[in-house]
Amino acid sequence: MKTASDRLRIVLAASESVPFSKTGGLADVVGALAKTLDQHGHEVVMILPDYHFLRQASVAHLPPIAESGLRFSISMNGRVMMGYVNWTILPGTNVRVLLVRQPEYFDRKHLYQEHGHGYVDNCERFCFFSRAVLEICRQMVLRPDVIHCNDWQTGLIPGLLGTQYAQRSGFEKTASVMTLHNMAYQGRFWHLDMPLTNMDWRYFNYHYMESWGDLNLLKTGIAFADQITTVSPTYAREICLPEGGFGLEALLKHRHEDLVGILNGIDDSVWNPETDHLIPARYSIKSLEHGKGICRSTLQRRLGLPERQDVPLFGMVSRMTDQKGLDLIMASADRLLLQDIQVVFLGTGDPTTENALRLLAQKYPQKVAVEIGFDDGLAHQIEAGADSFWMPSRFEPCGLNQMYSLRYGTVPIVRRVGGLADSVNNLDHPDSIDHATGFVFSDYTPDAFAETVERAITCWHNPQLWKQLVANGMARDWSWGRSAAEYENVYRKALQRMSGRFAEGRV
Ligand code: ADP
Repeated sequence: MKTASDRLRIVLAASESVPFSKTGGLADVVGALAKTLDQHGHEVVMILPDYHFLRQASVAHLPPIAESGLRFSISMNGRVMMGYVNWTILPGTNVRVLLVRQPEYFDRKHLYQEHGHGYVDNCERFCFFSRAVLEICRQMVLRPDVIHCNDWQTGLIPGLLGTQYAQRSGFEKTASVMTLHNMAYQGRFWHLDMPLTNMDWRYFNYHYMESWGDLNLLKTGIAFADQITTVSPTYAREICLPEGGFGLEALLKHRHEDLVGILNGIDDSVWNPETDHLIPARYSIKSLEHGKGICRSTLQRRLGLPERQDVPLFGMVSRMTDQKGLDLIMASADRLLLQDIQVVFLGTGDPTTENALRLLAQKYPQKVAVEIGFDDGLAHQIEAGADSFWMPSRFEPCGLNQMYSLRYGTVPIVRRVGGLADSVNNLDHPDSIDHATGFVFSDYTPDAFAETVERAITCWHNPQLWKQLVANGMARDWSWGRSAAEYENVYRKALQRMSGRFAEGRV
């Protein structure tokens, strides 16, 4: 039981969280972290945009959403925009979820983009959201110890907190933490969007908000936050180098003492083959063969592949972006598909990649199946039905699918980067079978990827060895408890740093 002084009041601000909204791993992380911090006895309030699809029939499983009666107005470069606060509860927890309603900004078909292009007013949408988070804290007298911000959509919050909100009532003891889920997305906008932030132009410089002449919202968060985290220890090192920092490496290096990499966990109530109701048969390590057999033939039937048990089945579920290594797959596909294998893809994103995959499925109808779209049920069914999972990423901050794969007895094939390097142990020589959980390669080349898949195929034909590999992976513990404890340490460090700065007057 936490004493009053151990108990932190945490506001988690993000643009997406399960089970409300999701485009990728960020949503999984925010939802699971909130739940675990609540279990650890902290008072957690989550603030998210109120997307109109939260009220559609397809999300009928969500708890009821009620109006709070709170309304506020924010001047967006002279245009007064009203905001409303609705609220609900994160299922199974005490976490209050406050939803920022602003129909003009958030009643869109998707969260950030359509047809491969970001919404033109994304800067305005998320500056409004970030400013709304602070207004809600003020008007609802939340008095948070920490505001935990996630990605560029909330990067403005540490900036406002460190400047104009620093001396305001209710924020005297509030520290900020900025988590970087992916440096490739920085929220870069032209400099004339600066008035939307409501920050003084004097911060539009190389040290705080400007990079290469643009306004950069992620940089703003990094520059002003009391502590910075990212989602794996290896990625924390990579982003301080030019290849990984996407232009912000100098600032990150400068702040390296306040930067820590915390590997994400997985939410066992969602991703667990023993209890997962989205898959056709539940299984544990003891019932693996039977359970996975059913999952596999159901998957093959659903996707129109021959129902065969005697062929290694590879799966991939991914946003289709440059990051995910799909170019390696396309370049080695003809070589790999000479072999007797099956491959299933689920994903959406870059239209050129989507088309290239569709063509691959047409060329190899007996071997390749492609589903373009976002389908949570199918994602679970691929994790359960495949033998092995592909993640040959160019870079990967943490990656969740390789951990889900390990949990589902689906051997991951990954590149040695970011969180993939931190979570998969390579089977590289016979002795390594004691702790190996998958196949890992280093060079970003089609040959390195193809050779690694070929190693996996050879291993799959040795059932004894494959079984051991699967068992090692399924035995790993990815629960959120350890990671959440690390976040608690970061919150305390942020509070210490903030109180030191407060004594000196912020920024
Ligand atoms: P990222 O956050 O870079 O997209 P992660 O591996 O960290 O990659 O997390 C991806 C999450 O999104 C996983 O939960 C994965 O199952 C899910 N996901 C990605 N694409 C799809 C899709 N097309 N349909 C369903 N789920 C998807």
